[in-house]
Amino acid sequence: MDTLIRFLFDQYRVRGQIVRIDAAWAQVARRHQQHEGRDLAPTVRDRLGELSSAGLLLAASLKFDGALLMQIQGAGPVALFVVECESGGSFRATLKLRPGATVPHDASLADMVNRNDAGRFAVTLVPDKASGRERAQVASGQGGARASITSPYQGIVPFESETVAGALERYMQRSEQIPTRLWLAADGERAVGLLLQRLPDEGGQPAASDADGWNRMQRLADTVTRDELLALPPDELLRRLFWQESLHAFDERACRFACRCTRDKVGDMLKMLGSDEVEAILAERGDIEVRCEYCNQAYRFDVVDSVALFHATPAAASRTDH
Ligand SMILES: [Zn+2]
Repeated sequence: MDTLIRFLFDQYRVRGQIVRIDAAWAQVARRHQQHEGRDLAPTVRDRLGELSSAGLLLAASLKFDGALLMQIQGAGPVALFVVECESGGSFRATLKLRPGATVPHDASLADMVNRNDAGRFAVTLVPDKASGRERAQVASGQGGARASITSPYQGIVPFESETVAGALERYMQRSEQIPTRLWLAADGERAVGLLLQRLPDEGGQPAASDADGWNRMQRLADTVTRDELLALPPDELLRRLFWQESLHAFDERACRFACRCTRDKVGDMLKMLGSDEVEAILAERGDIEVRCEYCNQAYRFDVVDSVALFHATPAAASRTDH
């Protein structure tokens, strides 16, 4: 059931997408049940799920092959939410709490990340053909915490909403000037998202005559409850909400969890730490274990690996790649 459906309303210039991730989300949710040895408040997990479904919705509208990275840089108990989605339908997600921070279980997203209005919401678009530094850094950062956020495609806006959907709607309005509405829900089992977007006419402007259609589709979608979003299969949800409308579903694609971490990327990260630092850790502990914060895969480097990393000649290094 990890699927994303795109649709159009034939009589209006309104498009939509609905995504539901079950198995793929449950995998991620399980990995984040505990954070630094303590149970994670479900409200934090659910916000990460909503961000994941929203990321998949936005990534499915990219006009290039590549990745969409969403980060909430939190001022509050949650330091960071990161969701990375590929236009092909894969995603990964992680979060970071401030050390020792606790999140009340009724905390809103704003409570978690927007103390003193200092939260920031960043969206980074990384086309595949931008094989440069930005993408390498985004991919190899130890989890999201060190991911580079200095790409030319990045938009950062102040955090201005109580909800994930609200924050994204504001972002879309500010940066893309596309009227966009989102309805999101997540629990430990699944994450679901519905997106509606008003299409510009041929001249690039929203057609005045379509305002009624746009308003009407929003009103219909506004009737959906969190329980319905989580309980109903996507096609049934669309039927219930828009049964009077001529809705044309034209594309369905699979979504999945996929991590892009590799031993080579972790090695690159250790190189950036420098040989002095790495040797000091090796002297103290015997080996270095780096765990991917997205998928929990462990990468172990011992003294022999470290020598290969820092002292291999370019020719030898390229041989070990194959
Ligand atoms: Zn990984």
